[in-house]
Amino acid sequence: MHQKPDADAMGSTLGLSHFLRLLNHRTTVISPTNWAEWLKWMPGCAEVIDYEFSTEKAVTALDEAEWVFCLDFNTLNRTRHMAARLRKLAAPKLLIDHHQQPEAEVFAYGISDTEKSSTSEMVYDLIVGSGHADKIDGNIAACLYAGVMSDTGSFRFQGASAAVHRMVAALKDTGINHTKIHEELFDNFLENRLRFIGFVLMNRMEIFYEYNAALIAVPWKDLVRYEIKTGDTEGLVNYPLSIQGIKMAALIIDRDEEVKCSFRSKGDFDVNTFARNYFEGGGHFNAAGGRSTDSLEVTVQRFINALNENSSLLQ
Ligand code: 5GP
Ligand code: MN
Repeated sequence: MHQKPDADAMGSTLGLSHFLRLLNHRTTVISPTNWAEWLKWMPGCAEVIDYEFSTEKAVTALDEAEWVFCLDFNTLNRTRHMAARLRKLAAPKLLIDHHQQPEAEVFAYGISDTEKSSTSEMVYDLIVGSGHADKIDGNIAACLYAGVMSDTGSFRFQGASAAVHRMVAALKDTGINHTKIHEELFDNFLENRLRFIGFVLMNRMEIFYEYNAALIAVPWKDLVRYEIKTGDTEGLVNYPLSIQGIKMAALIIDRDEEVKCSFRSKGDFDVNTFARNYFEGGGHFNAAGGRSTDSLEVTVQRFINALNENSSLLQ
């Protein structure tokens, strides 16, 4: 899965792992970095290896592997420090992913389909398509449900097709408690995170009505003051999109080791291209990310210049 995994990365990977184990394969799940507290309820999450924290263990598993499944990312640089190791690995790499423009040459096999709502949906298709629908148990279902729910904005985005809703019905038939899963993901934070959101919406959000765009720029000192941890800023970028007329929102965070950018849009503004052109990133048409090696101030200025260059597309 990709670094700082979200519910789709973690859910699709764990879902596939549970499935492969039911077919008597031996699997090890590796994340390039740590992950949010609110993913820890997922069946199998306690066994996941954090590459940064337990590098030796992860490297042993990679070296012993006959196959390496790469889920929910399509360029090796999305695995941070693991990328160099993955690049020189002897075992064939298989891609299962729904982002745009895969680094196809590094994968021996794979499915890359930007029409898919989530990687979790693709794992579901793989299980059903290989004739094993009957093997989907509560563990697999809970992981895949969390992934598809999260990547479709709780079944709100265009990707939430009829097929996605049928898949959810099938997952629900295994007996999963979807109310509990929503609570685990959305009602499971500490007070400081909500105070932080209040603070940044009040003090760090700027609206550019001339570009129908908004920016939240968070300095490192805010993360320290509110004791912000991995996953606490997830979803923050969506708030400005609830303002009438705003078509594009950005979140730029000074994470100390790098400046991380998130972009979201509604309608016909392509943030995948925007992230690729200006911030070494990519993702989907309406949701993408990137990074900057400049300071927060310089990155914000570059963002404003980029808005200006895209002014006509943002009208
Ligand atoms: P987020 O803003 O939540 O980090 O990411 C939004 C979407 O863009 C996710 O689907 C994520 O996987 C993708 N994404 C985030 N950062 C990058 C990046 O640096 N490169 C690419 N190719 N995709 C990214
Ligand atoms: Mn995904």
